[in-house]
Amino acid sequence: MTTVASTAALTATIDLAAIAHNVGVLRATSGTGVIAVVKADAYGHGAVPVARAALAAGARELGVAHITEALELRQAGIDAHITSWLHTPSTDFAAAVAAGIDIAVSSPRQLAAVVKAAGEAGVTTTVTVKVDTGLNRSGVAVDEWDSMAVALAKAQAQESITLRAIMTHLVRGDEPDHPLNSQQAERLDDAAADLARLGAPPQLMHLANSPAALVRPDLSRDLVRPGIALYGRTPLPDRGDFGLIPAMTLTGEISLVKKVAQGQGVSYSHTWIAPCDTVVAVIPAGYADGVPRVLSGRFEVLVNGRSFPAIGRVCMDQFVIDLGPDGGGVTEGDVAELFGRGDRGGATAADWADATGTIDYEILSAIRGRTVRRYIGGEA
Ligand SMILES: *Cc1c(COP(=O)(O)O)cnc(C)c1O
Repeated sequence: MTTVASTAALTATIDLAAIAHNVGVLRATSGTGVIAVVKADAYGHGAVPVARAALAAGARELGVAHITEALELRQAGIDAHITSWLHTPSTDFAAAVAAGIDIAVSSPRQLAAVVKAAGEAGVTTTVTVKVDTGLNRSGVAVDEWDSMAVALAKAQAQESITLRAIMTHLVRGDEPDHPLNSQQAERLDDAAADLARLGAPPQLMHLANSPAALVRPDLSRDLVRPGIALYGRTPLPDRGDFGLIPAMTLTGEISLVKKVAQGQGVSYSHTWIAPCDTVVAVIPAGYADGVPRVLSGRFEVLVNGRSFPAIGRVCMDQFVIDLGPDGGGVTEGDVAELFGRGDRGGATAADWADATGTIDYEILSAIRGRTVRRYIGGEA
């Protein structure tokens, strides 16, 4: 996605001051240092500007899934500590070693590949071990833990690696009081103790994602790894918004205003029929840009402070809103807010998620296509 200075046809405005504010909230609630998780292009907000804003606001480190994401941050001149935790046999560990990325390994095979890359470069490289304590996704499998611990200690003794951190990911972070959260923390403590017995104690431990960082300071340990809360969305809506500020506002410039006569249908298959003579407006945003097609007819947008319903099918590039018989005073070029902070009556990403049976993580990270990003509240 490109970045523009002013409003475009379809604009995701990213408030970097909100990102900075949210870092402050997370530092306070967790009582510890923040690894700002900027994977997936910072959940659709733009990894480089978000990383810079988070670091300037006191985030201590960055976290990403793929090494390619870590390298993009380095190429932008960001020299903060970056941990990357999702690799495949074709991952370029040599590039990660050269760029000084903390590689979180999930298996003895991955560790061996990293040791090989470090050896070829003639350096000691920084490694985190990602332990599977119940999610059964990434992380060292239970049956491989003993041999992994021995291999880590050996690699450290041979100065191929420096074992910096031990991490795990919560199964039920969004149910913060579930006993599994504490059990996973205990399993991580046990794994760290195994490494200490082998002479390779990890220097740091982290397991908390956003919900735990907000309400389980006992799980904070040395660092927390929030993603969604950094972007201002509460992962625990039943327990409030924690003072977080949503960072993304999605707006579209109205491309066309026109009359539709009573009884006429609007958009593909005429799923909406005008109940009376009315005025409609076209908004240049569709499912190719991240407006879910299943949202058709189930959302409203804000124009000049007023709410107007979306009508008919959401198409690939556009959808239509009903302005009512008097046209609502809306003219071509006016700006429609699709979702935003929700503090002035408009929809939020969470409203879209609720209406489509998903979570706001998916709504935010799916904003794409012709959307251009505009940064406010800081240096882009
Ligand atoms: C994505 C991710 C996070 C951030 O999770 P949120 O629920 O968005 O806070 C933290 N840790 C790992 C390993 C992740 O993959």
